[in-house]
Amino acid sequence: MNAFSPPPRLLMGPGPSNVAPEVLAALARPTIGHLDPGFIKLMELIKHQLRLAFRTENRVTFPLSAPASLAMEMALVTLLERGDTAIIAQNGVFGGRMAEIAKRAGAEVRLVSCEWGKPVDPEAVRAAIRDTRNAKLLAFVHAETSTGARSDAATLCGLAREAGMLSVVDTVTGLGGIPVFVDEWQADAVYSGTQKCLSAPPGLAPITFSEAAVAAAESRKTPIQSWFLDLTLMLGYWDGEGGRSYHHTAPVNALYGLNESLSRLLAEGLETAWARHRTAHEHLAERLEALGFAFVVDREHRLPQLNAVWVPEGVEDAPARRRLLEEFGIEIGGGLGPLAGRIWRIGLMGETCRMENVEHLADAIGTILPSAKRAG
Ligand code: PLP
Repeated sequence: MNAFSPPPRLLMGPGPSNVAPEVLAALARPTIGHLDPGFIKLMELIKHQLRLAFRTENRVTFPLSAPASLAMEMALVTLLERGDTAIIAQNGVFGGRMAEIAKRAGAEVRLVSCEWGKPVDPEAVRAAIRDTRNAKLLAFVHAETSTGARSDAATLCGLAREAGMLSVVDTVTGLGGIPVFVDEWQADAVYSGTQKCLSAPPGLAPITFSEAAVAAAESRKTPIQSWFLDLTLMLGYWDGEGGRSYHHTAPVNALYGLNESLSRLLAEGLETAWARHRTAHEHLAERLEALGFAFVVDREHRLPQLNAVWVPEGVEDAPARRRLLEEFGIEIGGGLGPLAGRIWRIGLMGETCRMENVEHLADAIGTILPSAKRAG
């Protein structure tokens, strides 16, 4: 027998977050066919629950069978054709990934580079829009997981709209943890992931498209270069009730899990979940500041669900995180790109975001810190 038993872990990194036993139980229910009438009912229920979570009435709202990077890719390759111009704001790792995808799709990219750890600067975006002729879309990350900074999605989508451009919003880390208002923002393509504040296992990516985005997809001059990501083909499976046709074999059990996690979030209430994230973050900040930690992001722009702090002077990053994992079973994240080795990223996402977990982590850090400092 080669069965795998995962070690017990408290997931307090940048994702995945802890998954509730109820969601794990849903994942273990018997697999049925991906075109079974019963399953089609579940698909409609998931679409309905996603619309509530995204605060949208967009007809085209569904979970992509893929990690969130592919939703990023779907949003961009759907709306961009070779020769189009895209304005992409970058204030961390994931804005850079958007720019790379847009370039590979043949678009001209005007990158608006903003300081890491700060929100996307609306004035810099406004200037880029003014100086760039015929840009088709503006793309940015609402909740930058690499730094813990939150950008003002309402203002940025407003700038795009005023200029007659479409907007693409990455809220992979945002959805379920902070307010996301797709319709109020009038955003055109917005996507998320299941492994952050939705607290379902990784591997699915909720995505929603406005009517304008769907019209742009339908009026392309050239077909989307990716067969799998061609929205018009994908909708043959995900759109409307009845009359669906095979596109790919959906991850049936993963969707049972997503449905359960969405049901739990909506039963709690979005506002209550947002408040829970805020309160836990404030308590974590108090405990960490008392231990001498400093935050990377200014208080007013912090994501409560992703707390980035500077690794204290004299502490070696990787050995200290390894001790948290091995001695306490707690996973936290290190820095990415230029912040590798310099920051810790502490997630308080979804199911993980509980006061007892904040206390447990702060106690564990307080225990290892003196000897980690001596060792460093
Ligand atoms: N965008 C953001 C802001 C993310 O944090 C992540 C993952 O952490 C992604 C995109 C990519 O998600 P995935 O790893 O599921 O492909």
